[in-house]
Amino acid sequence: MGILEFDKVSLELDGHRILNNLDLDFWEGHVHAVVGPNGAGKSTLAMTIMGLAGYEHHEGDIRFKGKSIKGLTVNQRARLGITLAWQEPARFEGLGVGAFIGAGKPGASVQEIDAALELVGLSPGRYRSRRVDKTLSGGERKRIELASIIVMDPEVVLMDEPDSGVDIEAVNYIFSVIDQLREKGTTIILITHSAEVLRRSDHAFLLCHGNLMDKGPTARMLAYFGGKCIPCTHKNAPEL
Ligand code: ADP
Ligand code: MG
Ligand code: MG
Repeated sequence: MGILEFDKVSLELDGHRILNNLDLDFWEGHVHAVVGPNGAGKSTLAMTIMGLAGYEHHEGDIRFKGKSIKGLTVNQRARLGITLAWQEPARFEGLGVGAFIGAGKPGASVQEIDAALELVGLSPGRYRSRRVDKTLSGGERKRIELASIIVMDPEVVLMDEPDSGVDIEAVNYIFSVIDQLREKGTTIILITHSAEVLRRSDHAFLLCHGNLMDKGPTARMLAYFGGKCIPCTHKNAPEL
């Protein structure tokens, strides 16, 4: 049994079936990738796991440690230890960097916050008192969000395209944090278009038009990355 399980999950948005009868099993302490072409439903899958508004009315069940989380709010899921990185809305805009990083763990110490900043390569002296706002570069923002995840120490981390739109230095920190979370036994779900990110995983699920097309160990799943994009081969793919 996985720490997180999908049992015949289907989701319709705006009259379109975006996720179709998905059975998925995310094993505890493993790094999973979810791959598939644009529009496959990868981000929708992440938002459905989190139970974000508009994504809560799905068919089938989602279980965390064997218990249904279907009726739970985003905050309740977060308190169970399920976190989605890099989809945070603007509600943190203007908050101090230190406060933002500590927000996910009541009572987080300055030492913990500084250690997390160091881990993502940002000097605490320079960054702790900055604001989370436009004066931070995209790469700095991602690194700060990553630092917040380290402090939060969740059980399951979802990362939606962790390497998109960031400079190579930030990408390397993102990869080292993924490695660090893996060492700690965190269950990681990487949603990605990139073979580079896929290589960080143990197994991958291939989605296409909301259908699970294939799953398997990373070495085999890398074969789908022969071209620049992954072909959708699903014969019964619904009209989207
Ligand atoms: P991916 O992350 O794999 O690129 P998404 O999960 O973002 O794909 O989107 C999957 C499909 O669902 C796309 O065809 C997209 O247009 C559609 N979709 C996403 N959100 C909505 C919505 N709120 N209403 C209708 N269709 C949506
Ligand atoms: Mg997309
Ligand atoms: Mg997406």
